[in-house]
Amino acid sequence: MNQDNSSEYRFNLTVTDIKQYVYCPRIIYYTYVLPVNKKPTFKMEHGKDRHLEIDRLEKRRKLVSYGFEEGERIFHLPVYSERLGLSGLIDMVIEFKKGNLKEYYPVEFKNTVHQIQQNHKYQLVAYAMLLEEHYNKPVRRGFIYTIPNKDIQVVTITDSMRIYVKKVISAIYNMIKREKFPEARSVRRCWDCEYKNYCKDVR
Ligand code: SF4
Repeated sequence: MNQDNSSEYRFNLTVTDIKQYVYCPRIIYYTYVLPVNKKPTFKMEHGKDRHLEIDRLEKRRKLVSYGFEEGERIFHLPVYSERLGLSGLIDMVIEFKKGNLKEYYPVEFKNTVHQIQQNHKYQLVAYAMLLEEHYNKPVRRGFIYTIPNKDIQVVTITDSMRIYVKKVISAIYNMIKREKFPEARSVRRCWDCEYKNYCKDVR
């Protein structure tokens, strides 16, 4: 992946685009280069009530589940970076305060019984990068909460992960600019993909 200068960015990508590109670059092609109607999947149909579910669950949960004795929760925080050409809406942010110290941690909720994948981790890293700009504070870790099994996974935000997210952003803008149809990431992912009707070469 080649890195472009951010001044060449023509519009803003979303953090969901990062997640989708890491899952399969073709999803971004079908979103921005050759838009198609997609078939709603079970996941999408049942994602509609997700925000209500998050608020309901979090009101009962103690922050100690995340390893904090005290702190505030901020729900559905919009974040944006002109520098990165990226925007997003973070499910929840934990604001930890101790004396003059303030730290921020993004939390992403997933309604899945499946293992957390790389694309979910990079989604969280992208949120962490936007959160860093939003509060001008380093974000060193985040959390992925899987709703069905009430599991909290800690994700350490490393410099190499930040670099990878920047490379993904550049790769997406390059693909859109060149209108180049990308290779599938992995055909094992196609069975649960809303675009499977359009990828006849991988079936
Ligand atoms: S069907 Fe497969 S190749 Fe096509 S976009 Fe989905 S995951 Fe990618």
